[in-house]
Amino acid sequence: RAKSLGRGKICTYEPSMDEASRVRAELAIDLKRALAGNELELYYQVQNDTNTGGIVGFEALIRWNHPQKGRIPPDAFIPIAEETGLIIDIGDWVMRTACTAAALWRLPFKVAVNVAPMQLNHDLPRRVAEILNETGLQPSRLEIELTESGIIADRQHALQVVLALKAIGVTVAMDDFGTGYSSLSTLQAFPFDKIKVDKSFVQAVETSVHAAAIVKATLLLGRSLNIPVLAEGVETTSHLDFLRGEGCDSVQGYLFGRPMPVDVVTRMIDDEKGSRPQGADAHNELT
Ligand code: C2E
Ligand code: MG
Ligand code: MG
Ligand code: MG
Repeated sequence: RAKSLGRGKICTYEPSMDEASRVRAELAIDLKRALAGNELELYYQVQNDTNTGGIVGFEALIRWNHPQKGRIPPDAFIPIAEETGLIIDIGDWVMRTACTAAALWRLPFKVAVNVAPMQLNHDLPRRVAEILNETGLQPSRLEIELTESGIIADRQHALQVVLALKAIGVTVAMDDFGTGYSSLSTLQAFPFDKIKVDKSFVQAVETSVHAAAIVKATLLLGRSLNIPVLAEGVETTSHLDFLRGEGCDSVQGYLFGRPMPVDVVTRMIDDEKGSRPQGADAHNELT
């Protein structure tokens, strides 16, 4: 039995397949149905200014509510979406959903959207421009998050895409900084508007002198290059104290809030009076 999935990839069931590949093949079939069947959902996690505590934006994070298997985390299905090409349609859905939501917020916070490597090769700037146009979201309120893996395959083309995105007026952040294999040369070649320090470094600042030194160096680098730095995965007040002491611009993590469904975010924004710091609340995601 063979089933065609996404763009031109064929996925087959074979009795000889090992268990892991069988599970992946099954998930790939389910994922195609998930997009059409409203099983995908976007959650939003708050990003705060380190000094004032005020909200600066929200990162959109995809969730899959599988009817039989329950909640499946993105790390378990985004790779499958990439292999099957479904990431193009899913990526469009994410972009449209995030921009539609942000356009309705009472205050003009930014929305940050993760983009997978393959999307760079499928007319991303044109699709983004169309979606901004459709939803009426101001381009400056959209931030695109790229990881280094999205840039490695064809750096020249990736650079053209980033420049085209910036020409539209959206900002571009380098996600998971420090985990790729040439973060520094990528930073040199690409005009990023923000650096997101990977949570693996942030969460180890107290237990590893190396991690602490890497975070400090990244903050120094951002300051010298005039690129704001956001730390992700901030879970404790000691993480926050460290980052504040080292001059980190903005922060994101469970200390400030878990990823939340759109209605909770919208209510939170409706209640927002100004630069009041936000704590985690009862409606937050539990996992
Ligand atoms: P990412 O873009 O680096 O997102 C940050 C991840 O860290 C999210 O995991 C978030 O829930 C988690 N996180 C945030 N604060 C904390 C914290 O304080 N502690 C810990 N331990 N974790 C924290 P999530 O939502 O499971 O997403 C994982 C990855 O999946 C993302 O990493 C991103 O690479 C990818 N992803 C998520 N949504 C999308 C999407 O819409 N499109 C694409 N292409 N990729 C996505
Ligand atoms: Mg991200
Ligand atoms: Mg990240
Ligand atoms: Mg990541």
